[in-house]
Amino acid sequence: MRAMVLDKAKLPLQARDVPKPKPGRGHLLVRVNSCAVCRTDLHVVDGELSNPKLPLILGHQIVGRVEEIGEKAHSKFQIGDRVGIPWLGWTDGECVYCRSNRENLCDRARFTGYTIDGGYAEFTVADARFCFHLPEHYNDVDAAPLLCAGLIGYRSYRKTGNARCLGMYGFGNAAHLIAQIALYEGRDLFVFTRPGDVKTQQSAKALGAKWAGGSDEMPPEKLDAAIIFASVGPLVPAALHALAKGGIVVCGGIHMSDIPSFPYADLWEERVITSVANLTRRDGEEFFEIAPRVPVRTHTETFPLEEANVALDRFRAGKLKATAVLLVNPN
Ligand SMILES: [Zn+2]
Ligand SMILES: [Zn+2]
Repeated sequence: MRAMVLDKAKLPLQARDVPKPKPGRGHLLVRVNSCAVCRTDLHVVDGELSNPKLPLILGHQIVGRVEEIGEKAHSKFQIGDRVGIPWLGWTDGECVYCRSNRENLCDRARFTGYTIDGGYAEFTVADARFCFHLPEHYNDVDAAPLLCAGLIGYRSYRKTGNARCLGMYGFGNAAHLIAQIALYEGRDLFVFTRPGDVKTQQSAKALGAKWAGGSDEMPPEKLDAAIIFASVGPLVPAALHALAKGGIVVCGGIHMSDIPSFPYADLWEERVITSVANLTRRDGEEFFEIAPRVPVRTHTETFPLEEANVALDRFRAGKLKATAVLLVNPN
């Protein structure tokens, strides 16, 4: 099968013919239709995340069709079903985290497109228990970005509880998806962009944000919560400084530059800083229930599989206009 393969960090992916994978016990063999590109893919290629499987097929926002079912696979899928494959690919089900409904923190978790081969290929295999049925509302291209930007963004959003004034630092793919849910649920939205990025500020306001400005500005009201979508450490003390008492800063990324020091007074009065790691299957079920009701709209820009390097380069350079989605076996 055709695949784009990462041999080593900091090298471009190689277009290569590799053996088609075989579904093991409990696995689905999935013919990939589309696979969205995530910032995490860029972190892996750029060597910012340690210990990827190598050589590796990237990609953890996969939409495809079940082609074959391995022995004893979960009965919720049949051959021909459309399936979504997310970042969380496997957990042991028995560690202290798994046994306390925190499978996202499993000690032995495996991740699609990082420690398991992913979707930058014609076929992939996935543990059926971690795959999702996708809402009919979305076609294969539009559904792909929901599988990570949507799911992990949703987990970050849920950590903000009932915050009325919600800040978002960075307004890329994940923020754009989650902003729609926040507005649907009646939150007042405050969006922070790179200072001077008037275009993004305008698009946030057009979507319904109450205020949009630079990350060096203070919002007109104190925030009950802020989600940091950009991988920029100095945004953490900036967001903390904008919080009301008892507020929370949620860091939504897998990687971030170092966080500078800040006065304890900014944390005092029960303010909280937390991160979000991975997702649980429950996050996925909840998200795919609410997304078509909003309905959350995705903006995508498509590339053929063979142009994965072009998509990654444009992502790195900030030149994508929307979420990049690789077309693998388009319908
Ligand atoms: Zn576990
Ligand atoms: Zn991702």
